[in-house]
Amino acid sequence: MKDFFILELPNYEVKFEENQNYKYKNDKGKENLKKVLLSASRGYCMYCYTRVEVDRKNYGHLEHSVEQETAPVLSNCHHNISIACSTCNLSLKKREQGKRKVEIEEKLICDFSCESTPCDAYYTVANKYISNLTEKDGIKKFILRPRGVIQGDNPKERIYYKVAYDLLNCKFIPYGDERYLPESKKYIEEHIEKFCLNDEEYRTKEIEKVVEDIINLKQIPNKTRYNNLVAGLFIEKLERISSKFGMERVLKICTTIETMRVMKSN
Ligand SMILES: [Zn+2]
Ligand SMILES: [Zn+2]
Repeated sequence: MKDFFILELPNYEVKFEENQNYKYKNDKGKENLKKVLLSASRGYCMYCYTRVEVDRKNYGHLEHSVEQETAPVLSNCHHNISIACSTCNLSLKKREQGKRKVEIEEKLICDFSCESTPCDAYYTVANKYISNLTEKDGIKKFILRPRGVIQGDNPKERIYYKVAYDLLNCKFIPYGDERYLPESKKYIEEHIEKFCLNDEEYRTKEIEKVVEDIINLKQIPNKTRYNNLVAGLFIEKLERISSKFGMERVLKICTTIETMRVMKSN
C-alpha cells in the first residue's frame, strides 16, 4: 500500500530528430528546441512541474540548466537546454547564480553529438559541477538539472538523482536510491527548497483538487483539467489501480489522503 502514495517524477527523455536545426542562437532552432522539449515535458515546467502550455499557447522559456555564465561551453549544447516557467527561469533559478562557476581547463566544445547521449563537454562540466558539492556550502549553490544529474565519474554507471511527490504529506521529497551518497540526498533537498516546491506560497495544490473531485464525482477525472504534472501522474496511477483493483481502492486512497490533509490542517 505504501508506494501507492509516492509518485516518482521523471527525468525527461528528449527525442531529437536527425538533421533538424536545434541551434539555440537561431530563431528556427529555438522554435524546434521548444517543440521537442515541450513534448518531452508534456507541456510542463521541468523544474516546478507547472503547466506552461495553456490553450495552445506556450509560456515556457528555453533555459540553460548550467547557465551560460557558469559554463559558456554549453551555450549551444542541446543536452543542457530545458523548458521552464517564467518564475523558475527568471526568479528562483537566478538565486546564487553568481556563485556557480565551473572551471574548465581543457579546451572543450560541444560537437552537437549530444542528442541521444550528452557530448563529452557536457559530461566534463556535469562531473565538475557535481564534484563541487563536497566543497563547503557547495550543495546550496547547485541545481538538480531536469535532464538528469549523474552521481560519479562513470557515465556507464549512471545514478540519476530523482524527485518524488509524497501524496500523504503533500510534499516533494528526494526519491530514495540506496546508492546515493549522503550529500546526494541533501543536494536534492536543497533543490526542492530552491525551487520552493514545498513552500506555502508556491506549492502546487492540484493533488488536493484531484482528490476532492474524485471523492465528489466518484470517478477519475480527465488529467487535462489540472495544471501540474503531479496531478497528471497521480491520475494515471489511479487509472492503473482502478483497472487492477477497482474504483473502491481508488476512493480509499483518496479518502486516506484527504483525511491526512484535514488532520494536518487542524
Ligand atoms: Zn517552474
Ligand atoms: Zn553537447
